[in-house]
Amino acid sequence: MRQTLVAGNWKLNGSLESIKQLVAGITAGAGDTGNTQIAVCPPFVYIPLVSNLLADSKVDVGSQDISDQEYGAFTGEVSGPMLKDFNCTYAIVGHSERRALYGEDDAFTARKFAAARKFGLIPILCVGETLEEREQGITEDVVARQLDAVIELEGIDAIGDAVIAYEPVWAIGTGKTASPQQAQDVHAFIRGKLAGLNPGVADKVQILYGGSVKGSNAEELFAMADIDGGLIGGASLDAGDFLAICKAG
Ligand code: PGA
Repeated sequence: MRQTLVAGNWKLNGSLESIKQLVAGITAGAGDTGNTQIAVCPPFVYIPLVSNLLADSKVDVGSQDISDQEYGAFTGEVSGPMLKDFNCTYAIVGHSERRALYGEDDAFTARKFAAARKFGLIPILCVGETLEEREQGITEDVVARQLDAVIELEGIDAIGDAVIAYEPVWAIGTGKTASPQQAQDVHAFIRGKLAGLNPGVADKVQILYGGSVKGSNAEELFAMADIDGGLIGGASLDAGDFLAICKAG
């Protein structure tokens, strides 16, 4: 049985004050979220603070990105060992905003995935199609290509140490959630593809759905057979809504 994981991706949001309040709100209710695993991914500079505040709670911390490098002349980068120093458990890699706005391609994402694993972090690998790709009927090809880049570099067994997040780009921040069946279809495709390579890995890996998940739609999404939780953007900035999503798990 796969455990439900709900991860909040705060993106470029928050201030010292608002983040303290958000964390206080989450810790106040995290005890009532059953077996759901919970993580939050603050902007880099707030990771030490948030890690400290969450030290005695069940809530884990992750980063929104990670360098593919360990150290050296890479201005602006943050490496896996640095994130481990501040008790990060997860690192998101290949978020569609990184891919679309910062030109991070499949090969680069695969190297970030490798760096996360190398330094003891669990990569949350984001995959997903744009609206145009969905309309062209190539959703599965796109998702397969994004997965293959990682599998080619790291091997199928590495997927067993990771989390996958299926996030249709057209559903991110748009208020347009994929229907539970639309999401389930792609999740089943992903698990089926992995099962063809290693059934044990396919059975074990948590596949999260992301894209306009809220307290009001989380339960029907998480009820689908191959949806093991969510990667939550906007709704993770509101403690009450985020906890409602965690409880839906
Ligand atoms: P959203 O973002 O929940 O605001 O749609 C999800 C994500 O980008 O991870």
